[in-house]
Amino acid sequence: MTEVERRAALDAISAEVAVCTRCRLHQTRTKAVPGEGTAATEVIFVGEGPGFNEDRQGRPFVGRAGGLLERLLASVLWSREEVFITNVVKCRPPENRDPEPDEIAACAPFLTRQLAALDPALVVTLGRFSMARFNPGARIGQVHGTFRAADPAAGAPEALTYAMYHPAAALRQASLEATLFRDMEGVPPALLEARRLRAERPASGASAEPGVSSADVAVSPAAAMESVAQIEESEPTDQLGLF
Ligand code: URA
Repeated sequence: MTEVERRAALDAISAEVAVCTRCRLHQTRTKAVPGEGTAATEVIFVGEGPGFNEDRQGRPFVGRAGGLLERLLASVLWSREEVFITNVVKCRPPENRDPEPDEIAACAPFLTRQLAALDPALVVTLGRFSMARFNPGARIGQVHGTFRAADPAAGAPEALTYAMYHPAAALRQASLEATLFRDMEGVPPALLEARRLRAERPASGASAEPGVSSADVAVSPAAAMESVAQIEESEPTDQLGLF
């Protein structure tokens, strides 16, 4: 897909989300929150669901959790304009309760289509609901700050996923903020590793060599740094700044 085609696909999804009535959340929303960001990005951040401010504005991560997400991005010299940001559910659960399984299921095709349009190299999951989609069965306390291949059923078969706590968790529990910033340092190396793995893949249509797969390997960013250092020199510079 060209960038123009990606943008058109994302805009079409957003238009559908705006009038969606597939689950009960549409009854209490002010605005649906499809997600936003550049169609040219390699990185998508996936949160849980809109909160009060997002529901008012129709934009993801614009409240206090959004302020922290922007600081996290800035800490690696990225900005929200350089990535795509969306949520597992696109409408606010009343009183910010957890999304119900049937609400997540009803909304899932929208995220699947956003992933298909963007074909991201890296999916950063924010919180356990997002992580559960890409790495079912993982426990956030164990996997935060590490990357692994996405569950192929999640809709991003060529992506690595990188698990982080939800920024809102750090607003409730101050000690998590330092963890979030530390974990964020691992995101650019995870992107480099994701690029490296994609570059190694046979062109689509060709059959993959059996045996070597990243799917079962969870890797900490520190462990990836060695291979990352080797490819850094040859990386194109017109993409997300990496260090
Ligand atoms: N929390 C989320 O999970 N998503 C938002 O968009 C805002 C807060």
